[in-house]
Amino acid sequence: MATDTTETSATVRRDYLAERVRKVKPSGIRRFFDIAASIPDMISLGVGEPDFTTPEHIREAGIASIRAGQTHYTSNYGTIELRRAIAHELAMRYGLTYDPTNEIVVTVGVSEAVDLALRALIDPGDEVLTPDPGYVAYEAGIIFAGGVPVPVPTLAAEGFEPQAAAFASRITARTKAILIGSPNNPTGAVISREQMEGIAALAQEHDLIVISDEIYSRLIYGVDHIAFASLPGMRDRTITLNGFSKAYAMTGWRVGYAAAPKAILEAMLKIHQYTIMCAPTDAQAAALQALEHGEPDVNEMVAEYTRRRTLIVNGLNQLGLPCHEPKGAFYAFPRIDHLGMDADTFVERLIQEEHVAVVPGDAFGESGVGHIRCAYCVAYDRLEEALDRIGRFVARHRG
Ligand code: PLP
Repeated sequence: MATDTTETSATVRRDYLAERVRKVKPSGIRRFFDIAASIPDMISLGVGEPDFTTPEHIREAGIASIRAGQTHYTSNYGTIELRRAIAHELAMRYGLTYDPTNEIVVTVGVSEAVDLALRALIDPGDEVLTPDPGYVAYEAGIIFAGGVPVPVPTLAAEGFEPQAAAFASRITARTKAILIGSPNNPTGAVISREQMEGIAALAQEHDLIVISDEIYSRLIYGVDHIAFASLPGMRDRTITLNGFSKAYAMTGWRVGYAAAPKAILEAMLKIHQYTIMCAPTDAQAAALQALEHGEPDVNEMVAEYTRRRTLIVNGLNQLGLPCHEPKGAFYAFPRIDHLGMDADTFVERLIQEEHVAVVPGDAFGESGVGHIRCAYCVAYDRLEEALDRIGRFVARHRG
């Protein structure tokens, strides 16, 4: 029988778990989902993934790849067809030129791409600046890579838009990189050109690399997405990350990519080839189909997210939960602390009393305190019902 080391403390005296792993708390998002999962009529605005199923022609491309016997490893970089399509996408949309033979790697979701970028750059003690609140994997990824996360607060009063001046004040001699995500998870904030230019100037002045997570680039409302690498002088110091999970509703396929200057990309590839080998072959075929033929699907899904965004942002504001207009992604991030409870209590009670699941804002960093994240990844009528329930809850607790 296998020995459970946690129960043999009489013989195992050391804590064998690496310090950098012990330092990271389990994700604050998952905790509430276990409670929520046991309640039958729950409406979950909790998980940040599209409720849409992957469009059929994309699924068929994955199936066709398997049927055709494409069951082998691909190149470590990913199939050359997919890399060419990614290079074309980046050129066509943002005027960016990447050599598909050695400046693009297909990864297991943007999750892997974040990890590769950080591990390729970070030496022990290197500091990485990242907006707070921000995607939960950033801080963990920096610590796993041996680095020191430096949260850069963003403010509700500024719609949580990261400000270059806030980054500037936290740069030290140990700062190695800036990790940004625009549009942002959990706030939906989009970084304006002015602030991006400010961040670019800092990168140049202090010789920093910018890791730009653009996974929500296609889910953007009323403004244009700016690829960070397209700013003057930034291509050579930017790692662009993007993927298929959000735009094409392909979370389960696990495909993303990184594009970067050859020297950086080759370093990332070294880690990728020893740890992953390649992204799943069938998923790469599906991703190729998505890039080549998925545009009408993206437009259709964005049209629906647009409708829902209007409903939830107006709805929350009318209920007295102040909510800035999120310009991207599929999250609303209202304030709730004036109801006299912290976000954990709010979330727990909302689940128990009204069967609606949301996520406490401070699960994404200190600056999210007093807020909740509502993912509008449910059908329009369910979202209406969720707002009715939240309305009842707020009325009851307003005091
Ligand atoms: N980056 C951000 C900002 C995200 O919100 C997510 C998923 O929620 C990811 C990366 C990971 O996405 P993927 O499914 O491509 O690994």
